[in-house]
Amino acid sequence: MALDSIRGSLKEQGVRLTRQRQILLELIDKTGDHLDAESLYQLAKQKDPRINRVTVYRTLKMLKTGGLVDELDLMHYGGDQHYYETRLKQEHAHVVCLRCGKVEEFFGDVLQRLRKQVEAHFGFQILLARTEVGGYCAHCQTLRAREVDEARQRLLEGVEEPPRTTPKPARARSKRA
Ligand SMILES: [Zn+2]
Ligand SMILES: [Zn+2]
Repeated sequence: MALDSIRGSLKEQGVRLTRQRQILLELIDKTGDHLDAESLYQLAKQKDPRINRVTVYRTLKMLKTGGLVDELDLMHYGGDQHYYETRLKQEHAHVVCLRCGKVEEFFGDVLQRLRKQVEAHFGFQILLARTEVGGYCAHCQTLRAREVDEARQRLLEGVEEPPRTTPKPARARSKRA
């Protein structure tokens, strides 16, 4: 199991898995989500009210340095926010919606192939690869199209609306046509 191998790896590095560290590890491992430090802190606090922010940030740093969790910025959707996920997941690309912030994970052979091609091309030894794709999800594309339509409509109405002091020649003209 994923968590067991993390535990083993920590032991090798001489890191003691305190109860609070374990809570955090389990949270990152089990949610399978990409949570930021503050969300992790809030979740951890529910499990152990004594846990504090400093412990959470320190533990995340330790796990990151130890190569156990990955720190992601997810196209900076949340500004300077960082998100954490376990390194034990199979390599995947993050597909981030820049409108609603939804994050999808793309697993596929292409990523492995890309890795091999880059290694062959540059004679490079890849230790870490991170692929992020930003754009709009299907739902947001629909919403955006509607927003653009509405904005255009407002703009047209604004432009066509004649000044109050003058009569409406446009209407008269269209009647004649
Ligand atoms: Zn979206
Ligand atoms: Zn992920």
